Amino acid sequence: MKPFLAAATVDELKTYCKEHGFPAFRATQIDSWLHTHCIIEPDKMKNLPNDLKTALKQDFHAPGSTVAEISSSADKVDKLLLKLHDGEHIEMVTIPTDKRLTFCLSTQVGCPVGCYFCASGRNGLTRNLTAGEMLEEFCIGTAHAGRPDNLVFMGIGEGLLNFEELAKCLNTLVDHFTFSPRRITVSTSGFVPGMKKFAALKREFNLAVSLHAPDDVTRAKLIPPKLRYPVAEVLAAADGIAKANNRQYTLEYTLIEGINDSAVHAEKLGKLAFAHHAKVNLIPYNETGGMFRRPRAKVIDDFEAAVGATGARITRRIERGSEETAACGQLRAVKKRNSGE
Ligand code: SAH
Ligand code: SF4
Repeated sequence: MKPFLAAATVDELKTYCKEHGFPAFRATQIDSWLHTHCIIEPDKMKNLPNDLKTALKQDFHAPGSTVAEISSSADKVDKLLLKLHDGEHIEMVTIPTDKRLTFCLSTQVGCPVGCYFCASGRNGLTRNLTAGEMLEEFCIGTAHAGRPDNLVFMGIGEGLLNFEELAKCLNTLVDHFTFSPRRITVSTSGFVPGMKKFAALKREFNLAVSLHAPDDVTRAKLIPPKLRYPVAEVLAAADGIAKANNRQYTLEYTLIEGINDSAVHAEKLGKLAFAHHAKVNLIPYNETGGMFRRPRAKVIDDFEAAVGATGARITRRIERGSEETAACGQLRAVKKRNSGE
């Protein structure tokens, strides 16, 4: 498969230029377009000669993805549906919040975990994204909304099941795009083998664990058994990451009516979070047309207060772009439905 220009390092570009008869300083110029300006289209690299632009377009995906559709919400959250080089679709979201710009990026086409409440996993996994495709999300988002302050890998897919490519993307963001690891968050459904590899990276990336339940019985109502690990093992793996990178992790908790929203759940969750020095991020459920419902506002408020009463730190996900297709994977799901796939 053709390499992705977005993932090329300056050394690889130097080798490429040498092999194709271009002087080494051209590699430095491409490197600057790429890593300083996030430009991945050779035609926009103004100081390159035409024969080099043509060669780059021929030998690399530059880019492989194009913006197929943009859905904007009233509060300036833009969801970009990207068409990949093979015709598959993924989503990335640009989210401006008080003075900060955050991008939410996808790691896979579909998701093999298949959480019962999530649109992304409804049809399983189609394929992994390459590091180059994830970096293209970053660059396309930057062209659309400007350079982000924060990156969260919370779009479609379970990144830790695509560990090698995700790690390559993360390391490239830090080492070549000079993005601070402290401004990057990887969200996982609690895939323990991947969490162990993530700890071994020993870099200061933030971790968010989609716990959704303080006990295994409740968790089994949300995540199918195939890729689900026990709560105790997930928390032990998260502690291992915190030890390796010295960062406090987040427990994400998607709150769903009648499933995980009782006072007992809240108290257990608060105690767990407190004991593990983790903070809780409460995500009121975005309905996706399935059987799950979002709790009433008072239930959400009471749940938040009950977790807080245990001494645990809790924040609520700021509700942005809360229109029809706001939740993870929904725009792609609608696209698939409309095209009859
Ligand atoms: N696979 C990873 C990352 C992608 S999902 C994970 O599960 O953590 C990112 C977050 O979005 C998860 O916490 C997930 O529970 C949440 N999510 C998915 N669908 C949702 C929905 N319809 N409403 C609210 N949160 C949702
Ligand atoms: Fe996959 Fe995360 Fe959706 Fe679960 S919540 S199906 S792990 S994307």
